[in-house]
Amino acid sequence: MAPSFSTSNDLIRGEPRSPQHVPRLTRRVSGFLPQEIKTIDASIPLRSRELWEKNSIQKFNEENGFAKKFVGHVETSLARSMYNCDELAAYEATSLSVRDNLLIDWNRTQQKITTREPKRVYYLSLEFLMGRALDNALINMSSNGKCGDREGGTSREFVKKGLDDLGFNLETVLKREPDAGLGNGGLGRLAACFVDSMATKNIPAWGYGLRYEYGIFAQKIINGYQVETPDYWLNSGNPWEIERTEIQVPITFYGYVDRANGDTTTLSASQWVGGERVLAVAHDFPVPGFKTNTVNNLRLWKAKPTTEFDFAKFNSGDYKNSVDQQQRAESITAVLYPNDNFTEGKELRLKQQYFWCAASLHDIVRRFKKSKRPWREFPDKIAIQLNDTHPTLAIVELQRILVDLEKLDWHEAWDIVTHTFAYTNHTVMQEALEKWPINLFGNLLPRHLEIIFDVNWFFLQEVHKKFPKDTEILRNVSIIEETSPERQVRMAFLAVIGSHHVNGVAELHSQLIRTTIFKDFAKVFGNKKFTNVTNGITPRRWLKQANPKLAALIGEAISDPEQNYLLNMSKLTTLAEKASDYEFQIKWNSVKEQNKLRLADYIKELNGGVEVINREHIRNTLFDIQVKRMHEYKRQQMNIFGVIYRYFCMKDMLNAGKTIEEVAVKYPRKVSIFGGKSAAGYYMAKLVIRLINSVAEVINTDRDIQDLLKVFFIPDYNVSKAEIIIPASDLSEHISTAGTEGSGTSNMKFVMNGGLIIGTVDGANIEITREIGEDNIFLFGHLSESVEDLRFKHQYNHVPLPSSLERVLNGLDDFTEFKGEFKPLTDSIKHQGDYYIVSDDFDSYIATHHLVDETFHHSKHEWIKKSILSVANIGFFSSDRCIDEYASTIWNVEPLSS
Ligand SMILES: *Cc1c(COP(=O)(O)O)cnc(C)c1O
Repeated sequence: MAPSFSTSNDLIRGEPRSPQHVPRLTRRVSGFLPQEIKTIDASIPLRSRELWEKNSIQKFNEENGFAKKFVGHVETSLARSMYNCDELAAYEATSLSVRDNLLIDWNRTQQKITTREPKRVYYLSLEFLMGRALDNALINMSSNGKCGDREGGTSREFVKKGLDDLGFNLETVLKREPDAGLGNGGLGRLAACFVDSMATKNIPAWGYGLRYEYGIFAQKIINGYQVETPDYWLNSGNPWEIERTEIQVPITFYGYVDRANGDTTTLSASQWVGGERVLAVAHDFPVPGFKTNTVNNLRLWKAKPTTEFDFAKFNSGDYKNSVDQQQRAESITAVLYPNDNFTEGKELRLKQQYFWCAASLHDIVRRFKKSKRPWREFPDKIAIQLNDTHPTLAIVELQRILVDLEKLDWHEAWDIVTHTFAYTNHTVMQEALEKWPINLFGNLLPRHLEIIFDVNWFFLQEVHKKFPKDTEILRNVSIIEETSPERQVRMAFLAVIGSHHVNGVAELHSQLIRTTIFKDFAKVFGNKKFTNVTNGITPRRWLKQANPKLAALIGEAISDPEQNYLLNMSKLTTLAEKASDYEFQIKWNSVKEQNKLRLADYIKELNGGVEVINREHIRNTLFDIQVKRMHEYKRQQMNIFGVIYRYFCMKDMLNAGKTIEEVAVKYPRKVSIFGGKSAAGYYMAKLVIRLINSVAEVINTDRDIQDLLKVFFIPDYNVSKAEIIIPASDLSEHISTAGTEGSGTSNMKFVMNGGLIIGTVDGANIEITREIGEDNIFLFGHLSESVEDLRFKHQYNHVPLPSSLERVLNGLDDFTEFKGEFKPLTDSIKHQGDYYIVSDDFDSYIATHHLVDETFHHSKHEWIKKSILSVANIGFFSSDRCIDEYASTIWNVEPLSS
């Protein structure tokens, strides 16, 4: 059936819906009604509570207690013995033991929240790039006696000792854990840092996401090309998750809106009869805070078939088909879409989004209903944060629940909705903005499309009242984009209209969303709705866990051996007093060297045990690192072109008769390290990976330049690799085309680990510069204000390339046996308008690298001083600061007191 929807133009001109606008549909034989939301109460009788409490399990808090737990789990949970306990089993038993401690606090935290009824936060994110859980749990559990630790030792220390006594080594046991790679890059990692900070700050908060069977693919490099292999991360089970088979939410898709029983308007309770139903099963992951008893929850949904049975099909003899269809349910949460900053308009993706939003909303509403409060108090008790537009359907789903199931008046419902949600935008790039063709959308979610049309209708009326003479603005802000061949739902616009706040992720980015993609909304709503919360990272994982030696040295230097500064990173400022202290500089540099050696060891292991970085020279070798998702806007191509240019210049000097010593003066020792995945279908990004590997092959085997320059591509960049790579950087590259990077968060990770940055004036680089001082960062390139003009110039004039870049582009065939293999990279710059303005920034990029070399090799103490001063002033970028800002300016929530 093809329901006749009003166009947005009709909606502007026309009357509110009249009965003839509403399609009359006949009732079909089979179909599913979305279920009413019920609450559960299964308390045990009062007389049993004392017995219960007496028998509650206790936390272990020393190595013997741990050993007892560990052996217990090996023998019962794993059903193994001391004769067949391998390292994987040791990892599992350790995790289950540690998890027991966390769950005691988890239960207490959740009980406290239930009885006190504070306002809660729900963080909806389609991605949580968590990495490994065990080491993080051991670090966060440590609280000097408060949280299961005995005096004078941390949980991590006594678990290490306990494992040692049992014949295992903690460090190797930790490596048995697969990464939870349920995200692509920055957006997913941000969500992971935020849940850590929310627990640490005692905010009553839950994360909601999907439990993908396959996380982000594992990247293999074969002949220099990226090959994707499935990440079946649950292969050996997952000791961190608790499957809650008691929490199963029925989710409906397809079908039609039944108006056979006299409904005359889409604005009041309507009957959506679904054509397909699956179940969402909750899987919970404890999220411990650092040095606090708060343990929050991350709830991930898995899809499974219902036990409902299509008797119509069965009776017609189609048993096999009716079972097959049920089985397809599981495909909804099978795989994470591997795109970073790019949308794929596939129906399955929209299905994932609705499945997740509907399950989460059902859960949130059920919990609220238990409190028996009136609906108008919903926004006083609940704040929902939307991580990008992926969960925008939650806005529509809440409106549907309130109107169709709870029978609230449309406007009353919409008022509740818009006081509940807030939306974080992550990008201004067109290709990343979600749009859904209305046919695809209306087929999967017919009632939701009606609701969107009605939301749009009321919104456009309001806009029309405000700007009666401006017809252009109605077209510009309509949720429905009138494109041929088909109209589309603009999810970002829906998110803006349905939220009370919209924030960008760095100051420049937040300013850009107000002046570009949402400029007309800023006119309608005023600037106050649009705010900024600059991203941050958790210093527990990105300093203490990744770089324990630096964390300890900092603690020692600022007289905080317990490292309480990790809870208040502004305490680092006193480190500045030591920036010029020679002795301290030596210690500081020694930590960096050890981390560089650790990475060199890892690279050696990757190379089958063959030494590739000359260890004797490691202190005089600049480690120059760019690790992040592969993207044209992040400009890894410019980096590798710079490496090629350097190589060509070195060869020129040798050919002109200079000695290797003379070359070394101009081009001192450097290793250029790359890492990052490309989306599977992103041709240009994959070609850059191939170029980097091809260049590495040539340069690393060129004996003429000896060891002065090396290039590596580290395969399968992920969170646990990042923890090894980032502490080893002298320099890292954050060189996006100005105005394209939302914030960047790895820039913060690198600086927190004592690395300096070469970067463009983009994203959070700008605020990093403000915080650490412009003497301590190497900025270059055109500003975002100039980018539009530069692009225009490339489109309409023939602009000659700088000779440096010309040389590189003409020489790309030196690195491949397939002539012209890299031509698409050249063409994009020479003939396709150089959208990322590589040619305009190239010479200043090269010049800035010379300044870097100069400082690193000829003013080492200056360099170390910059490094110390940077760390001293990086405190602002703790994700704890982000959570404070969200809590006070957007969510209006308070921490739970103890
Ligand atoms: C921090 C992080 C990112 C984000 O890096 P950017 O350079 O900010 O894009 C991506 N992937 C992983 C594994 C990370 O840890």
